[in-house]
Amino acid sequence: MALTHEQKVTLDKLVSLCKRRGFVYQSAEIYGGINGVYDFGHLGTLLKRNLRSTWLSSLSEVPGEIILFEGALLGPYALWKASGHVDHFADQMVECRDCKHRFRIDEIDLEKACPHCGKKNWSEVRQFNMMFQTQIGAVQDQKSIAYLRPETAQEIFVNFKNVITTNRLKLPFGIAQIGKAFRNEITPKQFLFRMREFEQMELEWFCKEENAKKHFEFWKDNRFNFYLSIGIKKENLRLRYHEPTELAHYSTCCTDVEYHFPFGWKELEGIAHRGNYDLSQHIKHSGKDLSIYDEETKKSIVPTVIECSVGVDRLFLTVLFDAYDEDTIEGESRVVLKLSPKLAPIKAAFFPLTKKQNEPMYKIYEAIKNKGFIVQFDESGSIGKRYRRNDEIGTPYCFTYDFESDSDKKVTARDRDTTKQERIAIDQIELFLEKKLI
Ligand SMILES: [Zn+2]
Repeated sequence: MALTHEQKVTLDKLVSLCKRRGFVYQSAEIYGGINGVYDFGHLGTLLKRNLRSTWLSSLSEVPGEIILFEGALLGPYALWKASGHVDHFADQMVECRDCKHRFRIDEIDLEKACPHCGKKNWSEVRQFNMMFQTQIGAVQDQKSIAYLRPETAQEIFVNFKNVITTNRLKLPFGIAQIGKAFRNEITPKQFLFRMREFEQMELEWFCKEENAKKHFEFWKDNRFNFYLSIGIKKENLRLRYHEPTELAHYSTCCTDVEYHFPFGWKELEGIAHRGNYDLSQHIKHSGKDLSIYDEETKKSIVPTVIECSVGVDRLFLTVLFDAYDEDTIEGESRVVLKLSPKLAPIKAAFFPLTKKQNEPMYKIYEAIKNKGFIVQFDESGSIGKRYRRNDEIGTPYCFTYDFESDSDKKVTARDRDTTKQERIAIDQIELFLEKKLI
């Protein structure tokens, strides 16, 4: 019986593929690594870059103005005090007194023994603030305390006046940001799913409170459709509406786009109505005006925020899970990443059939590379091996220069998903790729 997608793709297989092919490495592995911190190799870096640019271009297609922002990673004590993170950004934690392992209270049954050492000797429950604290300058006092940001949004709120003034913005509008954030997770897990250092892509959409519900609905649908547009299977996606008891006290509605990971349905992106809580908090704590003048009502208002937030790394994991497949081609089993061509790190590979065809094929490869395509030249091993190597990293097309190419000026183009081959004219390769890679 054929295996289902869920049976084929496991976290272990994906972690191993990522390491084997240079997508993701454990950070500082030769020193034992840091749990929940990863480095990205060549293919991983290319895939991340494609995820970011696809996200940005999806935003450029919506009505209304969206401008870009890139905030600092370090923020002063006062900022994170005002935002509520110093006092409230904490997990409840217990420690096993015997083996010193720490657990989040929501992932452990205190009636039972420690899953790590089998003894039952729990500490009292403690609050554990998840921000990474550091200090700025040589003097150590409360004024020198700074934090690595646990979310990207706050600097947008703190800079709200500067941003609207310099860009002459009118409601509604959006501010988009891609950048790193840091959380000292007690138990980072599931590879890229929950990391201590990660990257967010966030849109803060500012609007009037009376229209907020309408905007919220728009963004919920827009974000769901974004995932379909990058090729994620519809049956692996769903929307989950938060119960009133799950909402932050300032939020009136929140919906998650969830993905069906091998370890269950989990949040991929959150779409949250944040009210005007953040701006109001910073107005209160800084004493500065962060309102916007509304031409229509001739009043200054503190706008409502709809936030759409997704982790680049979590999306990275999602697209790999979704694209991963195993099948059998001419009696030989293969691993294939059926990534959307938009996301594939390498767009095409160029093979000479034998050493004799190296020179003409290399010239074709160079010409395509010089047009700005991310492509590779692969001359080692049998053609079958070269196909498998490229299937495994999601390369949508492979071109082979063979014995007839000199005379008919054509190469073989092979499709990753169907493995079908067609002969195309050498001078048509660029056009072929342009059409297929949209
Ligand atoms: Zn223990």
